[in-house]
Amino acid sequence: MTTPVYENFINGHFLKNQSGDTFAVKNPATDEVIYHVEVADEFIQNAAIESAKQGFAAWSAMTPIERSRILLKAVSILRERNDELAKVEVLDTGKPWQEAECVDVETGADVIEYFAGLAPAQVGQQQMVGNDFYYTRKEPLGICAGIGAWNYPLQIACWKSGPALAAGNAVIFKPSEETPLGAIKLAEIFIEAGVPAGVFNVVQGAGEVGQWLTANPDIEKVSFTGEVGTGKKVMASAAGSLKDLTMELGGKSPLLVFDDADVSQAVSAAMLGNFYTQGEVCTNCTRIYVHKNVYQQFIDELKTRTEQNIIAGDPMDPEVNLGALISKKHQELVLSYIDKGISEGATLLTGGKALSPASAPNGYFVEPTIFVDCKDDMTIVKEEIFGPVMSVLVFDDEDDVIRRANDTHLGLAAGVFTKDIQRAHRVIHQLQAGICWINSYGNSPAEMPVGGYKQSGIGRENGIETLDHYTQTKSIYVGMSNIESPF
Ligand code: NAD
Repeated sequence: MTTPVYENFINGHFLKNQSGDTFAVKNPATDEVIYHVEVADEFIQNAAIESAKQGFAAWSAMTPIERSRILLKAVSILRERNDELAKVEVLDTGKPWQEAECVDVETGADVIEYFAGLAPAQVGQQQMVGNDFYYTRKEPLGICAGIGAWNYPLQIACWKSGPALAAGNAVIFKPSEETPLGAIKLAEIFIEAGVPAGVFNVVQGAGEVGQWLTANPDIEKVSFTGEVGTGKKVMASAAGSLKDLTMELGGKSPLLVFDDADVSQAVSAAMLGNFYTQGEVCTNCTRIYVHKNVYQQFIDELKTRTEQNIIAGDPMDPEVNLGALISKKHQELVLSYIDKGISEGATLLTGGKALSPASAPNGYFVEPTIFVDCKDDMTIVKEEIFGPVMSVLVFDDEDDVIRRANDTHLGLAAGVFTKDIQRAHRVIHQLQAGICWINSYGNSPAEMPVGGYKQSGIGRENGIETLDHYTQTKSIYVGMSNIESPF
């Protein structure tokens, strides 16, 4: 059976490359090639820049309310096609249908809707300075590049294009080479909604294509989602043309469970924050610090619920709640971390092996895995694993657990479970993380800014401030009297 070949999406249509280079995309749940994609060669790269320049000229000349109207049309189409798009995400990522069906498309559409609504409300300021005055304009940056990770491909494309387009920029988006189809679908939807050709372009390929985007002098900004190490390369490369940057990087986030917490609720949060999307979520609370007074109760319930309630298998089966990891290579990496956990002395509470469910025997599954008796200096406690692997640690002193939670160069997210309202805020204010939850974990509505402290990121996505990250301020001084000059 021949599989489809997708070309790059430039200037409102598919465009064939000249090199003929393609790459294959596999369904992680079956290990089968499902389609091929053409690599963005030099011809495509040049065409993408020309297209985005033209797109920017047309789009930035429209009023914010005109742009908003068109983007809201795209939002309606995204929602109408929810199931078709959710299926694309399941086949590309291996994540369960029961998640994609209600989260991936919806949270992407929400963010475009949010920024479409905000765009016409963005205003400059004016101030008198003596008899003169100045005023400011919020102007778009120009061509913005988006570079995406593979865990939420369509959502990431929406989260980057929403504010960028609302503010009047053109976008060249490069999805992860593991999950390239969602962004193409989004590009088609933008065209159908009336976004002018050239405003949203999709280039395909791996690191080299990303590297080209970060170095290209015609691109004013890069918004990147991916690993810390790749983020550093992106920043170094973007320095050559002093680009504006947004960085959404990795994490190793702590969840603190105090002895007055609702333990069952904390177990729910820990499971969501480690096993949702088979653990491939950047904000995951992979370090769970539990107060010694509730430690045994916590791990007993955690073990029972993990062993009884998780169903791995064909991700399209609506009953399945644990999907396949993105690739064989990633499965092997996650298993190697589990081996390290065992060899460094952590106790395996449950899981620890690859899985081969009857309905998806060739998929890259890993059992939901929980380590207890973990120590702060173990590799599994220090490094991001990006799979369904949870480390549980004990504490008995508030100040000490805050110090331990902060003892990392990462700072994406953090959570606290306690019924003591003062302790909840006191502790969360001391945690060095950009996205925090009290008696909750993982929710990320369009209205709430998200991004990391320390090496987990720069800048924010979502929330009002993000619109500022896609505009630049022009100050205009107006003289109301004759110039006084010594010349
Ligand atoms: P990755 O860093 O390997 O790749 C991310 C993207 O960068 C891909 O599109 C890739 O092709 C591209 N790329 C690779 N090398 C490049 C280079 N030199 N220059 C420019 N682009 C390059 O990350 P991944 O494996 O796709 O995703 C997993 C990581 O993403 C995890 O660390 C996770 O925590 C992080 N993540 C963060 C967030 C967030 O919002 N903070 C969200 C999702 C994922």
